[in-house]
Amino acid sequence: MSSEHPQKETHHQQHDKSSVPDNYVTHTLKQHPPLPPFQWRNWRTEITWIPLVLLVSTPLIAAIGACYTPLRWQTALFSVFYYYVTGMGITAGYHRQWSHRSYTAALPLQYALAMAGAGACQGSIKWWSRNHRAHHRYTDTPLDPYNATDGFYHSHIGWLLVKPRIKPGFADIQDLSKDEVVRWQLRWYLTLTLVMGFALPTAVPWLAWGDAQGGYVYAAVMRLVFVHHSTFCVNSLAHWLGAASFDDKHSPRDHLLTALVSIGEGYHNFHHQFPADYRNAIHWYQYDPTKWFIAACEALGLAHQLRRFGENEVRKGAWSMKVKEMRREQEGLVWPSASEELPVVGWEEFQEQARTPARTLVLVAGFIHDLAPFLDAHPGGRALLATMAGKDATTAFFGGIYDHSNAAHNLLAMHRVAVLHGGCAHAADEKFVPPAQRLRIVCHDE
Ligand SMILES: [Zn+2]
Ligand SMILES: [Zn+2]
Repeated sequence: MSSEHPQKETHHQQHDKSSVPDNYVTHTLKQHPPLPPFQWRNWRTEITWIPLVLLVSTPLIAAIGACYTPLRWQTALFSVFYYYVTGMGITAGYHRQWSHRSYTAALPLQYALAMAGAGACQGSIKWWSRNHRAHHRYTDTPLDPYNATDGFYHSHIGWLLVKPRIKPGFADIQDLSKDEVVRWQLRWYLTLTLVMGFALPTAVPWLAWGDAQGGYVYAAVMRLVFVHHSTFCVNSLAHWLGAASFDDKHSPRDHLLTALVSIGEGYHNFHHQFPADYRNAIHWYQYDPTKWFIAACEALGLAHQLRRFGENEVRKGAWSMKVKEMRREQEGLVWPSASEELPVVGWEEFQEQARTPARTLVLVAGFIHDLAPFLDAHPGGRALLATMAGKDATTAFFGGIYDHSNAAHNLLAMHRVAVLHGGCAHAADEKFVPPAQRLRIVCHDE
């Protein structure tokens, strides 16, 4: 894909925009309304031809070529190996090294990653990282170049095939403009992408085991198709499938399947919350070969300053999501009436009501309960409960006769019908609050 696409930004323009207004997204949309959606009547000028030709021709060549080219095991192994090499150029290089600066690669490793990344034919580091920084900054807004809210197709590949309807939001790439390796790759991009994307993966099987055709079809073209869609899945699948393990404000999700197809980039919910962390997966059992590669490079002295977000903040994110889930569960349960929702009655009225044959009114901890519906279900027997009608059974309930279980206390509270005037002597002690309500989730504004 063209490294020039979509728009070049000069230093001067970047500097002007560094004072980004607070409401940058709405401000920009007002100033520069998006182009109308793609229409077929002017397709010639609307299509971005280089990506389109590349992304349509490579799967066709791979499919047709595979019908006429026997797959030799050496070529098959090399193709998988080269998929990981060029894929890592994107994940460990373009993404974690240059877009996020999540670690510092030694200069030889930087050159190797820049070359490997060029072999993935996804544009230059500078263009790719500029878009990716905008993606993180304006996730799920029109200023995100692969805005997932525009649908799976758009975020996967559609955004590359037609001219952007709006320029991606401002992202600071001054560090990249000054970066020696980024500049070198940009200068030699076309040569590098042809050599690393096509010539080298054809030449190795040709020179090593005499399979030039297999090298071209499988290691160059078919491998490229897989690398392309592997990266594209991070923008589409990772914003669609899986769990919001750390935050649910935006679309990124964590899923093993996405990790498997993207060399470990599938823990995308974590990644959007903690983008400067060199890991995508934080648990040892999660699949993140890019993290393992970076850690191995560190052991070899080729990478240093591997950044990790503070464990406390990471756990806080996970904890917030668990609490949200518990709050949803809490809201699905029926809770007893609070004292302010109940009528307040005096002792005389309580006595009079308690004589009504259809009711069995029992006072416990300042609340009057109608236990008539529960008489037959009372494990201690109907008779015992009936003798408590019109009486204060607080002491009896809490151990005088039988020290009831927490479940019994929770259930008792469900039978509240009134509050006794002046009867909440126990309000300060724990008898007033059923056990299930002593720890519960309350929003800060409630
Ligand atoms: Zn994303
Ligand atoms: Zn990222």
